[in-house]
Amino acid sequence: MARMFEMRRYLSNFEVSRVGHLLTDVLVVGSGIAGARAAIEASQHGDVILVTKAQAADSATGSAQGGIAEPSGSGDTPDNHVNDTLRVGSGLNATAAVRYMVEQAEARIEELIRWGASFDQEDSVAHRTREAGHSVRRVIHADGDSTGKELARTLITRLHQQERVRLFENCYVIDLITMAGQCVGAVTYHAKYGHQMIWAKQTILASGGCGQLYRETTNPSVATGDGLAAAYRAGAVLGDLEMVQFHPTTLYIAGSSRALISEAVRGEGAHLVDRAGERFMPAYHPDAELAPRDVVSRAIRSHLKDKGGNCVYLDARMFGKGVFEARFPRITRICAEFGIDVSRELIPVNPGAHYMLGGVVTDLACRTNIDGLLACGEAACVGIHGANRLASNSLLEGLVFGAVAGETAGNNLATTEQLGPSLNIGSLNPSSDRTVLDVGDVRTSLRSVMWRNIGVVRTGHRLRETVEIMEFWGRFVLDKTFDQPSGWELQNMLGLARLVAQAAQLRDHSLGVHFREDSEANNGPSEPQHLLVVKSDDGPVYSWAPPCLKCPAESLP
Ligand SMILES: Cc1cc2nc3c(=O)[nH]c(=O)nc-3n(C[C@H](O)[C@H](O)[C@H](O)COP(=O)(O)OP(=O)(O)OC[C@H]3O[C@@H](n4cnc5c(N)ncnc54)[C@H](O)[C@@H]3O)c2cc1C
Repeated sequence: MARMFEMRRYLSNFEVSRVGHLLTDVLVVGSGIAGARAAIEASQHGDVILVTKAQAADSATGSAQGGIAEPSGSGDTPDNHVNDTLRVGSGLNATAAVRYMVEQAEARIEELIRWGASFDQEDSVAHRTREAGHSVRRVIHADGDSTGKELARTLITRLHQQERVRLFENCYVIDLITMAGQCVGAVTYHAKYGHQMIWAKQTILASGGCGQLYRETTNPSVATGDGLAAAYRAGAVLGDLEMVQFHPTTLYIAGSSRALISEAVRGEGAHLVDRAGERFMPAYHPDAELAPRDVVSRAIRSHLKDKGGNCVYLDARMFGKGVFEARFPRITRICAEFGIDVSRELIPVNPGAHYMLGGVVTDLACRTNIDGLLACGEAACVGIHGANRLASNSLLEGLVFGAVAGETAGNNLATTEQLGPSLNIGSLNPSSDRTVLDVGDVRTSLRSVMWRNIGVVRTGHRLRETVEIMEFWGRFVLDKTFDQPSGWELQNMLGLARLVAQAAQLRDHSLGVHFREDSEANNGPSEPQHLLVVKSDDGPVYSWAPPCLKCPAESLP
């Protein structure tokens, strides 16, 4: 039955001769920081279509709060930033990629400022905050805690100014099209235009992460991992899918969506306390509230187990009225919506899935193992974060490697043939109408299982059980052919959940954010390895690979 997943090369059936066809040089999937930056760069070389499944600003990028790491402040150096990133990454980082990103940071941020971005200032220089794992104050931010909104606004405005970019909103990528091992575009769905095939010489996947796999998550509703699942079906190598970062402080209010309470709040001095009002982090780690995110998340879980309660609390009362609001206006507003006055009351928080460290494996030029397919941002695994992500490095990764992907795609145009509408894209699907399906119900159950079984702490038997559950659900979800994004999203989430569970099972030792309760500490291989997966007719094929396998510095465009 596991083969049900592998039988699905394409999720939708459509008649190639009857759907609309569009041709472009470069197709970009996703309008977050990585996709937007990639499209701007690629448009210097050719025509670009950027498709995004909701509004352009609906992305993890748009929700980012804390800021973006940039090492040109006083007392800091690029070397410091590289070292902090490597230290947190537990030996799995691609050092050349980290160095490249850090060295590009200042120029890329200055470019954003020239394009109209505005960062918060103090005494006429950018104000820098400190977040967990950073040895110095290095994180610049906008409108206090609305950095992502400002970055998205700047990049989307810039996108609209590019004559060679066409931006299609509410356009859902169902699948990547491959012919003879080459990616030649994507099959999309738009409520008004139906199915379309967008044929491109180069396709850049910048579709973000998959936090929606989890019941507790900071991620926006668009983060269902569609791009990762589509890339897997198309034959791309994915890596380190078990590496999910959990953020320790997600607003915990029954029935509401889980809003992030930025790490910068702890960075500026707020404490975590339990329901008795006792501060507990100093007992777990010398850096207390500023310990790495996985440490704080596990400490919260462990403390709740010992002392009881459903959540812990963030105590930000010491800031006093006005001060907190000025520094964190968005968080103040979010809390106020639930009647919480942060100057007088505690903020209930719990961990939630925040960031997918794994993704489509790329080299430093953002190339994947499939010709014509590039990946960048959270959807990619170029090796920046290793096994644990330093806070505020992911916006920087998207910005820097988005530009790299756009440039690589542009450089490749001259040597890539434009393939057009073809009746020969390979087999479509078997389809069965066995059982009526409540898509919403399966989705909710999937997210609950993922949270219970593959959350902050993992054990072998729970992981095995999860793989079995996903394979069982796969029998009656993957045999359907849906005609709406909600169905395709569910199929993507299910396929990806199975891969995350299998990878977490195979990595039977703790490393970085992946914590196995049933394994002794430090019992993994002395040199940490990537866990790669690729599709075969018989099921996913897993293999181990050393860090930097695909990251020779000379692969930069
Ligand atoms: C609440 C929150 C706060 C954060 N704060 C910070 C921070 O302060 N600093 C930091 O560095 N990082 C932060 N992060 C992480 C960071 O925001 C993300 O890792 C980063 O923005 C990812 O950028 P991206 O361009 O790769 O993906 P995204 O910004 O997620 O963009 C993905 C895009 O792909 C589109 N898409 C997805 N599937 C499809 C499909 N099937 N068809 C068409 N389009 C599709 C989406 O609609 C979206 O436009 C935060 C994340 C969250 C959720």
